[in-house]
Amino acid sequence: MQVPLLDINRQHADIKEELIQVFTDALSTSRFIKGPEMENLEKEFAKYSGTTDAIACASGTDALILALQAIGLKRDELVITVPFTFFATAGAIVRAGGTPVFIDVLPDTFNMDPDLLEEWLNTNCAITNRGIVHRKTGKRVAAIMPVHIFGQICNMDSINATASTWDLPVIEDAAQAAGSKWRDSRAGSLGSIGCFSFFPSKNLGALGDGGMLTTNNPALAERLRSIREHGGRGYLHAEVGTNSRMDAIQAGFLRVKLRKLEEWHAGRRSNAERYMKAFADVSQVKTPVIDPRAWSIYNQYTLLAENRDELLNFLRNKQIGCAVYYPLPLHLQECFADLGYTKGDFKVSEDCSGKVISLPVFGELAKEEQDEVVAAVKEFYRR
Ligand SMILES: *Cc1c(COP(=O)(O)O)cnc(C)c1O
Repeated sequence: MQVPLLDINRQHADIKEELIQVFTDALSTSRFIKGPEMENLEKEFAKYSGTTDAIACASGTDALILALQAIGLKRDELVITVPFTFFATAGAIVRAGGTPVFIDVLPDTFNMDPDLLEEWLNTNCAITNRGIVHRKTGKRVAAIMPVHIFGQICNMDSINATASTWDLPVIEDAAQAAGSKWRDSRAGSLGSIGCFSFFPSKNLGALGDGGMLTTNNPALAERLRSIREHGGRGYLHAEVGTNSRMDAIQAGFLRVKLRKLEEWHAGRRSNAERYMKAFADVSQVKTPVIDPRAWSIYNQYTLLAENRDELLNFLRNKQIGCAVYYPLPLHLQECFADLGYTKGDFKVSEDCSGKVISLPVFGELAKEEQDEVVAAVKEFYRR
């Protein structure tokens, strides 16, 4: 039996007529960019996330870049993030003019280690009249950017406590975590700004590119709205922004899908639970650890597996969808060589990159398909 890692068609089968209606409406009104669909999506997404504002944009990468500009990042300033994440996290920091500083992740949740964050600031930085300054280089630290990887929110109690001690804004990379919760708060409502991606394979995916910013700060919301459209008010420009508008059809598609999101999350979460039980007796794999304060939406279901590469080949030969997110941590990427990091600098991230494997967890995965995945993993380790 062939089992896909993700089959978006199954999700769309249910809502096909509504999606077609969105397109038909756009065609008849000729409102192709922004417009009421986008404004309604912004209101609905803000309500869902528990924020006062939501600002739609063209992609998750753009959301990160816009957020960094809005908090006042200047050229060569430092932004603290993690090396175990999708490339766009650090890529956006560089595109916004900043320099990434990496902090290793925790081996169980794969999220930023709050103790190492605190330690890095204590060891390397000073509070000055220009803000937080990295002593060795004299560069200002502009923000902390934790990543809610695979759909689980970081330890925001600790990260926010450190951020408030050091008076640093927190930009949540929530691209994989729409709807995910820390205690009772959803992703995007915990920091200064939350950044979301609606890339089609994300848990809330458009039928193309799309992104969203959330904030409880009205001044930041206004600045984000301005920067997303060339930084102006009308034709008067106090700063240079960009074109990062959302298409009306994408907003319409996302509104249809947002109404289904909790139902899809329930499916993902019950699949994750079935895997956890099924793999309890397989000592060669470690199932995801979720902090008791977190509620994960399992954007990915990621195991730490012995003989990972062989397992990957074994599953692929059986036509079982699986993937490695992510095979090379960002501090070892060629394009970041000038940051001066070397192998061994972030042992947990490096170790995870060698052991992680993600399995199908999408809500519409059939029980027989999941049984097939479990049986194949067990067969591999029994050989
Ligand atoms: C997908 C993703 C992004 C980028 O989003 P795009 O919409 O593809 O630009 C950024 N950060 C993380 C962690 C992601 O998973």
